[in-house]
Amino acid sequence: MATLSGKTAIVTGAGSGIGRQSAQALACAGANVVVADLDAEAGKTTAALIEAGGGHASVVRTDVTDAADVEAMVAHAVATYGRLDLAHNNAGILGGSAVLTEVDDDDWRRVIEVNLTSVYLCLKHEIRAMLAAGGGGSIVNTASYSGLVGLPFASAYVASKHGVVGLTKAAAVEYGRKGIRVNAVCPGTVRTAMMEERIAENPKMEKALLDVSPMRRLAEAAEIGDAVVWLCSDAASFVNGHALPVDGGATIQ
Ligand code: NAD
Repeated sequence: MATLSGKTAIVTGAGSGIGRQSAQALACAGANVVVADLDAEAGKTTAALIEAGGGHASVVRTDVTDAADVEAMVAHAVATYGRLDLAHNNAGILGGSAVLTEVDDDDWRRVIEVNLTSVYLCLKHEIRAMLAAGGGGSIVNTASYSGLVGLPFASAYVASKHGVVGLTKAAAVEYGRKGIRVNAVCPGTVRTAMMEERIAENPKMEKALLDVSPMRRLAEAAEIGDAVVWLCSDAASFVNGHALPVDGGATIQ
């Protein structure tokens, strides 16, 4: 069992889905968790779940596309718990469904901003805080299996997630010598609000997703949270710059 006792973690997009599960899993492993989300009420629910399980959590409403908010989120973690050791940069959106020639330009910009620019802003301020405390730390960025392969009707999303994988590797190369590991988790399709919404719009989609899944099922958010805890922990102490598929084998076919 990974132990993160005495560590402080930030989780973005922690009000729902994968972020909520990783926040709970990090707290179960002993970390104090800063629950960051645009939706403060959803964040409070996650924090209440953590506290009901005996963990420690603090909520900070954060728009991860806003540099000042991201800086304040990191400052909140340091002010509340004394230091920052771990981060799961996870907030993201799917964007519209269209072939590339029909993509709305504003939708493209929004997806890149929320999914990719946000990870740059989070890494910048989280790594600064880790360096200020003498170095050392572990950061996990949520990419996607679509950060490793192409998928139709989602060019902005696919490009943003390939960008997250690239940014992860760039940060890992720059800060590995300071003892800061930066990795990405690449989930397959996960049963969360994001996917339920898309499946509700197109009922044939669930069968299509199951047909291409070697394990013939979608992931549960907790399965991604467990991988995040492992990447954060010393059990992964020499894993750096890796993009870990947690996709039931979707990217091996
Ligand atoms: P979700 O919609 O359940 O949760 C996303 C959370 O992010 C929400 O709580 C939302 O309020 C928050 N958020 C959105 N924009 C934000 C912003 N600007 N600032 C702060 N918080 C913001 O989605 P999920 O499925 O849990 O997705 C989490 C991450 O996992 C995303 O990066 C997504 O791209 C990625 N992912 C999801 C799947 C999947 O199948 N669900 C697969 C691969 C990768």
